[in-house]
Amino acid sequence: MAEQEASGLQVLLHTLQSSSDRESILTILQLLGDLLSVGTDRRIRYMISKGGSEALLRTLVDAARTASPDYVILLPLFRLLAKVGLRDKKFGQKALELEALDVTLILARKNLCHSQNLLHCLWALRVFASSVTTAAMLGINGAMELLLKVITPYTQKHTRVIRAAAEVLAALLKSKSNSRRAVNRSYVPILIRLNQDWHSHDTANSFVLIRLALLLCLKHIAKLRSGREAFLAAQGMEILYSTIQNCLDDQSLEPVISIALQILRQCYPKSPLPLVTTSSAYSFPVPGIVTSETPRVLTEEDYEDDGEEEEDKDSDSEDVKEEDDDLETDVNKLSSKPGLDRPEEELVQYKAMCLELSCSFEELESKPGDDLNSDETEYANHRHIPTAASPKGLCLNKDRISGGQEKEVPVQNSLLSRVKMGRSSIHLTSKRGPGMNSYRNVHPNGPGIGSSGNDVSDIQASFREDAWDMDVISCPRISASFSNSTNRETAEFIDRLLQTHLKPMVFHDPYLYMAKARRTRSVADFTRMAFPDFWGHCPPLSAQPMLQRKCGVQRIKILEDVRRLIQPNDIINKVVFSLDEPWPLQDTASDCLQFFSVFESGNLRKAIQVREFEYDLLVNADVNSTQHQQWFYFKVSGMKAAVPYRFNIINCEKPNSQFNYGMQLTLYSVKEALLGRPTWVRTGYDICYYKNHYRQRTAVMGAASGKCCYTLTFAVTFPHAKDVCYLAYHYPYTYSALMTHLDILEKSVNRKQVYFRQEVLCQTLGGNSCPLVTVTAMPESNSADHLEQFRQRPYQVITARVHPGESNASWVMKGTLEFLVSSDPVARLLRENFIFKIIPMLNPDGVINGNHRCSLRGEDLNRQWLSPSAHLQPTIYHAKGLLHYLGSIGRSPMVFCDFHGHSQKKNVFLYGCSVKETLWQAEATVGTSNLLEDVSYRTLPKILDKLAPAFTMSSCSFLVEKSRASTARVVVWREMGVSRSYTMESSYCGCNQGPYQGLQFGTSELEEMGAMFCLGLLILELKSGSCSHQLLTRAAALLNAEEESLDFYLQSRGSSSSSIASELDDEPPCLEEIEYGTDSSSDQEVSFSELDQQIQECAFHKDEGEEEEEGTGQGRKAIP
Ligand SMILES: [Zn+2]
Repeated sequence: MAEQEASGLQVLLHTLQSSSDRESILTILQLLGDLLSVGTDRRIRYMISKGGSEALLRTLVDAARTASPDYVILLPLFRLLAKVGLRDKKFGQKALELEALDVTLILARKNLCHSQNLLHCLWALRVFASSVTTAAMLGINGAMELLLKVITPYTQKHTRVIRAAAEVLAALLKSKSNSRRAVNRSYVPILIRLNQDWHSHDTANSFVLIRLALLLCLKHIAKLRSGREAFLAAQGMEILYSTIQNCLDDQSLEPVISIALQILRQCYPKSPLPLVTTSSAYSFPVPGIVTSETPRVLTEEDYEDDGEEEEDKDSDSEDVKEEDDDLETDVNKLSSKPGLDRPEEELVQYKAMCLELSCSFEELESKPGDDLNSDETEYANHRHIPTAASPKGLCLNKDRISGGQEKEVPVQNSLLSRVKMGRSSIHLTSKRGPGMNSYRNVHPNGPGIGSSGNDVSDIQASFREDAWDMDVISCPRISASFSNSTNRETAEFIDRLLQTHLKPMVFHDPYLYMAKARRTRSVADFTRMAFPDFWGHCPPLSAQPMLQRKCGVQRIKILEDVRRLIQPNDIINKVVFSLDEPWPLQDTASDCLQFFSVFESGNLRKAIQVREFEYDLLVNADVNSTQHQQWFYFKVSGMKAAVPYRFNIINCEKPNSQFNYGMQLTLYSVKEALLGRPTWVRTGYDICYYKNHYRQRTAVMGAASGKCCYTLTFAVTFPHAKDVCYLAYHYPYTYSALMTHLDILEKSVNRKQVYFRQEVLCQTLGGNSCPLVTVTAMPESNSADHLEQFRQRPYQVITARVHPGESNASWVMKGTLEFLVSSDPVARLLRENFIFKIIPMLNPDGVINGNHRCSLRGEDLNRQWLSPSAHLQPTIYHAKGLLHYLGSIGRSPMVFCDFHGHSQKKNVFLYGCSVKETLWQAEATVGTSNLLEDVSYRTLPKILDKLAPAFTMSSCSFLVEKSRASTARVVVWREMGVSRSYTMESSYCGCNQGPYQGLQFGTSELEEMGAMFCLGLLILELKSGSCSHQLLTRAAALLNAEEESLDFYLQSRGSSSSSIASELDDEPPCLEEIEYGTDSSSDQEVSFSELDQQIQECAFHKDEGEEEEEGTGQGRKAIP
């Protein structure tokens, strides 16, 4: 049957080309038309494979070259050509070779006054032009002049033809040589005027598709610099801006507005960032740094990055970028273990960091069964110490609803009760509208503070009473000696403040913080602290939902940006804060906001007041670097009540952000803190993240090129007038906060039970100590047996915060540390069975100085693990040295995990290492069947998937990428042979699965993840073959008693039953286009079905004569 059909089709095609008999040709065309009008594309593709395109093109050329062409043959032939050509990728090339372009152009010229014939020619040209090479050839042969004769100002006649002509022109202008020709022949002002004319007359929106095609012409031309210049010279910005102003809410004009916006963004003149230099405002003399680039005067050329001079490339050529290129496929590199990276004798120094292996505990009496529950009485007087048997104890919150009576509200329950359920106290509050006060959501029982400002007067009164100087409150001096009177006054003042307002906060102490902060060494010699770090943060009672993005919000923001250029009358452009310019810039008398960032982890380089309530902000690059702008943390004061302020951070670097997908920044209000709510909350609305018109110079191989910048824009309505607030990318966690926390933890533990040792791993380049913490249980006694059990406990090594901007990693680490020393029975089991070696902050200098990614040398420390240097990357060198040492004495850790934060994905997940999965994924030719691999690397993530509410297996990956060869995860896996070597990534945003679905992370959820990770380690051990009988029995008793669901872990021990959840999709493309430099795939251009539809309609109407026109409303249809 199929063969018969094939031969039949071939006979038809053959006859079509060879026959000169009019009737037979017509009959064959009719037959082919019928054949292809039903069924699927497969028939057409089949016909193409049998030479159908060539046959039709030859027939066209023969029929057109006669003295008086026969349109009875030509019209159905054109319709077939368009239909087939759309699906033939090589059609343009075939048409060129068979000289069909010329004859079609000639026919079109002859039929300028004969719209039906012309329309058919245009369809064919439209299909020819889909190949860029052919389009360029048509341009050379004068196709564009011809089309501009057809495209007239607004009319109701021949609109089908006008639409087709405009669409052909748009297709032709995809060729850069055509665009250049169009600019040279001054088509840009003509096209602008044509569009404006159609737009203003077509009030019923009957011809949207014509307007769309005209805009697409301009969009393609605007890809050339000369095109943009012509557009600006012709007042294109002003005209286009005003044409779309009156139709922004019209749904039927959606594609028109979208393309117009793209043109406006593309033509907005590129300009350098308003910074004296892109290098960080801070520089620090460190070894091995070549002094930064010499400043050079920049020209407009430096900000051009569109490579417009390259030749037209045929868009048909598909060079899909292989994402798997980065996978390591060298089996030797994957499975061989490199030698030691340093002389073996150097490892001895790390013996001193493992005192637990040699300590004899002589102070312990050899008396097992000592009273182990004395901690509560012994430490109860210490006010930081949690008193309940919970991982984090109780956070004291006044329940204000119960008539002023204080009531202790338990925030955390025992860890096991929260497995996969999340915090029991979580209750989803209703979705907040934009602009509402975040604190109302966070403190449902708080004294109704609303954005309306109803109750603000009460609060103001209470402040007036105390006559606080807000600026002093927010920035206590931390000078070591309170010598002069101002400092003494400040100190006394702080004392008074703390005594009156501070409520006890678990694991925090402002006095201790102040002492620690004094010892912290920063590049800029900070003399002030940020109030939130000093005062402390108490997590909110409930997690906050993700922000629902308002449709069209990005469009509004972008039009506001465009308005700066064309309606500059309300633009202030006044620098109000700058690290680069002499201090102080701000006259406090003026009405504008005041900014400050010169404190630990602070990052704001410059603030420019753009309009009365709008500020452009620039963040500082990492020290000794010109890049990595993402993290921000700054103080803002002098605000008015109930006013939405718009902030734009204009020099962000990453091409996309969770800020487009529900994430909010964080805010801390000093007034709220003094009112008893010292809390970082998610805040901001109208949040979007998009590419802007600024370009940042980067020195690449000596040549300057303009790197794109992105704007993070958000609106904030502050909770109080004249407040002092802090805004940050994510919940800040400073180095001084860590040092404070470690001291408090150390004091909090029951030394009879908990072995807690804090020591210095090494000094950093900036002169700060990098702490190393050891946690395990004290031996039961100093008997030989007990000491032996103590010393034989396997190690677990956890590190965090190698990337300073990833403060979420520190909150997870905080949860891990607090849980490990807690009196939770699970924690006790963990301590009794493992020795934890923890480096909670691998990059203290970066954290202190407000970096996002790097060390003081401007390098990513998580790319230095292959061959770190003791002088240049001391923390990495010694962290690796410690791991090498453990390996050298046969005590490599069971699990190594490095905590990170992830800016593009949601949830918490692990990256691990697998040879087989990497080779499979890369489809490497090497046989993997002989390779033996222990699959236990999957066990821990599977366990966490079951336990931790925030964790998901579906985002985990176990591939070894070449670009990650020098990360902690890969190096510890390959060099130390630790098969369970991981990176744990926590989203900056929140969860899209599990009990926290739709919620943003608060610090409690992050801390809980840290505790759950520990529980995961215990269950991993229970499932392993090496687990001792004693542990198993005790764990069974504990887990069964606590939670029946946990039986699962014990019963399924050793089996690997659970299947991997199906892959969660990464973020979908944003509803509103983020980048304007898009390729044709997103254009609203003719699709298969649409041209088919046009042809169908025409064929249906063809008997109605030539002057038949599109009906009203048809223009609205068929916009994809
Ligand atoms: Zn990271």
